[in-house]
Order: sequence, then structure tokens, then C-alpha cells
Amino acid sequence: MRREEMVRKIRERAEKRNPWDIAVIGGGATGMGVAVDAAARGLDVVLVEAHDFGKGTSSRSTKLVHGGVRYLEQGNVPLVMSALKERGLMRQNAPHLVHDLAFVVPNYSWWEAPFYGIGLKLYDLLAGKYGFGASKLLTKEETLERLPTLEPEGLTGGVVYFDGQFDDARLLIHLAMTAADHGATLMNYCPATALLRDAEGYVNGLMARDEETGENLTIAARIVVNATGVFTDSIRQMADPDAEQLVVTSQGIHLVFDRSFLKGDTALMVPRTSDGRVLFVIPWHDHAVAGTTDTPLDAPSMEPLPLDEEIEFILETAARYLTRPPTRADVLAVYVGLRPLVKGEGKTSALSRDHVIHVDTSGLLTITGGKWTTYRYMAEDCVDHAITLGRLRDEPCPTRNLRIHGYLRDSPTLGSLEVYGSDADAIHTLAKNNPAFAARLHPDLPYIAAEVVWAARAEMARTVEDALARHTRALFLNASAAIAMAEPVARLLAAELGRDELWVAAQVKDFRALAAQYRVV
Ligand SMILES: Cc1cc2nc3c(=O)[nH]c(=O)nc-3n(C[C@H](O)[C@H](O)[C@H](O)COP(=O)(O)OP(=O)(O)OC[C@H]3O[C@@H](n4cnc5c(N)ncnc54)[C@H](O)[C@@H]3O)c2cc1C
Repeated sequence: MRREEMVRKIRERAEKRNPWDIAVIGGGATGMGVAVDAAARGLDVVLVEAHDFGKGTSSRSTKLVHGGVRYLEQGNVPLVMSALKERGLMRQNAPHLVHDLAFVVPNYSWWEAPFYGIGLKLYDLLAGKYGFGASKLLTKEETLERLPTLEPEGLTGGVVYFDGQFDDARLLIHLAMTAADHGATLMNYCPATALLRDAEGYVNGLMARDEETGENLTIAARIVVNATGVFTDSIRQMADPDAEQLVVTSQGIHLVFDRSFLKGDTALMVPRTSDGRVLFVIPWHDHAVAGTTDTPLDAPSMEPLPLDEEIEFILETAARYLTRPPTRADVLAVYVGLRPLVKGEGKTSALSRDHVIHVDTSGLLTITGGKWTTYRYMAEDCVDHAITLGRLRDEPCPTRNLRIHGYLRDSPTLGSLEVYGSDADAIHTLAKNNPAFAARLHPDLPYIAAEVVWAARAEMARTVEDALARHTRALFLNASAAIAMAEPVARLLAAELGRDELWVAAQVKDFRALAAQYRVV
């Protein structure tokens, strides 16, 4: 993917006054899913993202590809069933990025084994042919074998069940590459600034600004899809300043620790915390990730901050279950995500995770809510609506069996480059041809310089933050290490993107300020 090429295609269409079939606003899981679906059906699709692809919620999840045991408890069987099916399709279509993961629910009371045992059997049943493995009851010894750092006192046994795990930002980048492989035009650092309307007042395109040059781009489109997550209502209000609020925002944080806090290959699932939620401690990229919280917010922001009480809550809950209680000093990184929840009554944790498709009287098509796991199904639903609404060429949706960019079955043999799947070869070649690119960027993380070069050349990374937060996950794994990597990464990017020393200095300064928010002091 080359940004210059993308902007050229947008200009060309505007000059020819040739409208796109679909213009998507928002490059998170929802919008990128729509771009993949539309492009794979042969529709002309353009997507604009205000920042880097995946900068919003879609890089800040718990990293689970799951049906949602919690939604089963809430009685939302249709959501669980469709998410379990999507979980299976995600593993089938992106085996380099989606893996099975065993979870153990530890039992400290006599009633927990039968209660969770039966619930998780139902979870297995609902998955049907998309199952990831049968759940079963464990003895105390078996439980501790799977989770050697689990608090043994009072432990009576456990229940093991299976779900999926992934690298969210990496899947997002590979979805962008899949969309581009099928002809989609994608622009990052290009916010939609206004909606265009025809003589009757129907939305027929948008204006967007290329943040790198300041150029205003005109994008005429038969259908405009609003997929801006927690920013949904700000786009709807561009079409109708009186549009009623559709989305409420709830914040969730995660703490990242050294892997020694969670030995073994099994995740810990705490089914009921003191605030009635679930808490996971999962192994991820050789670290342990604990989360999450559910804190209602009045207004969304691009870089939400963790609350002190959220940090304390996760530390306290984890301390109850782990032999070595983690402290603030053990936190290598904290990251915060915002859930776009469709407005309803009651607590945000009880609001439905179903997605919603909404058509405003102006014809603006909004898709919001849902989960990362259901992005494909959401996209199919959205493009079906777009075809009907815009009277577009009606092609069947092919994404159920569409391989995601990088598709590779035996990627674990690639070591730390596993997440790149079939692109790992190209990164290996970069490192082989230039010894400087083979250099590791920090002793505590596996990333090499070639990954940054690849991110700039092939994945449209534009800034140090892009390279360290999403194209590699350094910032999410170890904020101090990421800060130390900023300068060499800025120099690598400057060489690739043709930037000068002033740019390098500004990038390093900006990144250090941002990364400070990912540290817990
Ligand atoms: C804490 C937490 C944990 C989660 N864990 C899981 C999990 O483990 N598994 C799971 O399946 N789901 C999980 N989810 C849910 C999942 O992450 C979200 O449903 C999904 O990422 C939402 O994607 P989105 O594309 O709708 O929003 P986003 O990813 O936020 O994307 C919206 C994009 O729109 C862009 N935008 C905004 N305004 C404009 C504009 N004017 N012009 C252009 N672009 C604009 C933003 O920059 C942003 O990138 C979790 C959510 C949270 C908050």
C-alpha cells in the first residue's frame, strides 16, 4: 500500500466526476471490514481514516476472538452463537493471526465447578461445528499445572474451555492490505470534514483533508458509510445537527506485565469480579495482559487516560488470584479503549454488544456497536444495506471464505515474525540484504529494524507512533522500552519517507509525550 498512490486515485476520480460506489468514514475494524467486503464484491470503495488505521478502539481490545461467555450469562444466545461462528471463520481465514487459547476458570467454592462446568458445556454446544475444543472439569492439581502462578489456597479445582486470541492492530493492518489487494483505496491521516448533499438533501459524498499536505479532497459517493466507533454521532451531526445520540461511550483499561506473572500457556478467567464483570489475565506476545474495566464516559477522545481507580481495581483483583500480587511498579504498560455502545437503559456493562445499522433521513448509513469478533458479519450486513439503499450492483458476499492478507497455515515456525504470515519472507529478505535492518531495536522486545522499514514501505506507517503502537506492539507491551526505541525508529522512518532532522526531533518529542501516558507511575 502506498499513500501517494491512494491520494492520486482519489484526485483522479474527483477530476473525472466519477462517484465511488461506497465511501467509508473510519478505519477501525468496522470500517475496514466494510472496505474488505465491498472491494471483494467488486464495488468501488474508498475509506478515509482520521489517524493511523486502527488508532481507535480496534488496537486496544482484550485480544480475544470469542463468543463471549459473559453474554451467555446475560442470556444473549443469538449474539453468542453468531460470534462463535465468526470466531471459527476468523481462524479459518487468518490462521497466522488467530490462535486457540485455553482459559481456566478457577473454583474456590463448591458450587462453582457444576455452575461454570454446565455453562461452558452450553458454550461448546452453541459453537457446534465451529468449536475450538471441549471444556472440562479439572482437579486442583490439573488447574495448578495449567496455571502455576494461581493462588492455591482454598482452590478446589477449575474448568478449562477454549476460545481464540489475536493481535488486533495486526489483523486490522492485514484487513487494510486485503482491501487494497481487492482494489480498495484507503487513506490514513485524512479526516472527513464535511458531508456533501445533492439537490434533494441526500448525502452523496464527503470532503476530507489530507493532514500531511493540507489538501482538501472531494469524494463523491453513492453511499457514505459512517463507521467511526465512539465518534459516530459527530459524523451523524454533520448530516443533521439535531440528530439524537445513538452511541454512549464506556472505557476499558488493560495492564501489561512481565510474563512471569502468568506462567504456562493458559489464560485465567475470573468470571465475577467485585463489580460483577469478568476479568482476564492472558498470555500475549510473551507478556501477561490483565483487563478490563467498564467506566462510562461523557465524551470520547482519541487518547483516553486510565483512571487511578481502574488501575487499582485490576491490581487488586489480579492479586486475589495470583501467587505474586502485581503492584504499580510491575506495570510495563497501560492501554485504554473506548466501547461504542448502542444507547439503552441501565449500566454500560449491561448494554448489548449487538451491532446496529442506522439510516438517517439524509441517507447516511451508520454502522456501530458489535465486537471485533463479529466484524465480518457486521460488514456483510452493512454492505447488503448499502447495495439496497444505493441501488448498487448486487453481488453476493464472498468473505466467509476469503483469505486475509498474510494467510499462512504454519506461521508459528516464523518465530517473532509469525504475525506477518506470508509477508515474513519479505521482512527476512530486507534483514538479509542490509545487516543494519537485522538489528534488534530493544533488548526487552523482539522487534527488528526491518519491521519498521516494511511498515513504512508496505503498510502505510507514517509516524513513530504508528510503528511502535500498531505496526509493532512495543508501546502496548512495554512503554519505557518503546520510548527508548523512538529515536532509532524515527531515523529509519525519515530515511524511508524522505524526512529531515527537524521531523525526527518533532516525532521523538511527540512520541515520548504520548508514551508517558502508557506508563503507570
Ligand atoms: C476495552 C475493550 C476491550 C475489548 N475487547 C474485545 C475483545 O477481546 N474481543 C472482541 O471481539 N471485541 C472487543 N472489544 C470490542 C472491539 O474492540 C470494538 O467493537 C471494535 O474495535 C470497534 O471498532 P470500530 O471500527 O467500530 O471503532 P474504532 O476502532 O474506534 O474505529 C473508528 C475509527 O474512526 C475514526 N474516525 C473518527 N472520526 C473520523 C473522521 N471524522 N474521519 C475519519 N475517521 C474518523 C477514528 O480515528 C477511528 O480509528 C473491546 C472493546 C474495548 C473498549
